[in-house]
Amino acid sequence: MRGRKAPEAIPKVARNAATKQSKKRLLRFARNDALENDNMKIIDTIPRMSTLVKMLKKEGKSIGFVPTMGYLHEGHLSLFKTAKKHTDLVVVSIFVNPIQFGPKEDIDKYPRDFKRDEELSRSAGVDVIFYPSEKDMYPENYKTFVFVEGLTETLCGISRPGHFKGVTTVVAKLFNIVRPDMAYFGQKDAQQAVIIKKMVKDLNMDIDVKVLGIVREKDGLAMSSRNVYLSPDERKDAAILYKSLTKAESLIKAGERETKKITKMMEETIQKTPTAKIDYISIVDTGNLKDVNVISGEILIALAVFIGKTRLIDNIIVKV
Ligand code: AMP
Repeated sequence: MRGRKAPEAIPKVARNAATKQSKKRLLRFARNDALENDNMKIIDTIPRMSTLVKMLKKEGKSIGFVPTMGYLHEGHLSLFKTAKKHTDLVVVSIFVNPIQFGPKEDIDKYPRDFKRDEELSRSAGVDVIFYPSEKDMYPENYKTFVFVEGLTETLCGISRPGHFKGVTTVVAKLFNIVRPDMAYFGQKDAQQAVIIKKMVKDLNMDIDVKVLGIVREKDGLAMSSRNVYLSPDERKDAAILYKSLTKAESLIKAGERETKKITKMMEETIQKTPTAKIDYISIVDTGNLKDVNVISGEILIALAVFIGKTRLIDNIIVKV
């Protein structure tokens, strides 16, 4: 507790008074934060969020939660709007989580525009934006991490080691703070969704996780905060990800079952685009994310491709 007096050093009477005072202060905040009218609240500390959640729980309100890193787009908004239909109240977190970025990934360059996010959230009917600071989430000497074995070491986990450990840790923390009844994730991050579901099951978290479909641009490019990094030419080239996925789907629908042949066709399609460099193309089981050789039932075709310097991901589920 650097910079603060140890509790033992404060006389008991004063200590009680201090606790009462800080409780009073939190209650005052909570009252300010209470959702008496339609105003969206912005809460930027963990204690204030926890106090509000306590009040909402007492009132028997159900909470829908959408964790995001901000720089919102229609993909995020579709999650907010669905959450709004299912629950009394929608909480959206905006937090660019430092521990899910690798040493070579530039977190400082991650796009941010809180004012715009605020307006978009309000227009989508969000009730609370939770906007904690890095210091609040990871105070000095932070030591606890959540790690899901197996599922995290394939697909994106190969080129982004440690990424999913950062994701599960922050989502577990956010779940503990927001205590949602339902949480909403996008199929866009297919592997992340499978991992979060596994974490919730394994850790007996009483949260209903919903995974919603990918929202795309007109040319099929999956919406992503990272698309802003693309130059106009790269933006055009980026459509090749979805094009290769739909081509693969057509091939399967036409009767092809050998995954090697399908991924080869996808590779050839993508390689025709000069700015594109494939990180991986995989056809896996939707449940355990293990490679599939011969397609039957439901499979996930997932890929990560660099367009210039920007790494983009996309996927499609195909049933036969
Ligand atoms: P992010 O802000 O990128 O961490 O994303 C927050 C949530 O939005 C995640 O659950 C994503 O999977 C989801 N999401 C991002 N892009 C899309 C999209 N194009 N369609 C649907 N959901 C998305």
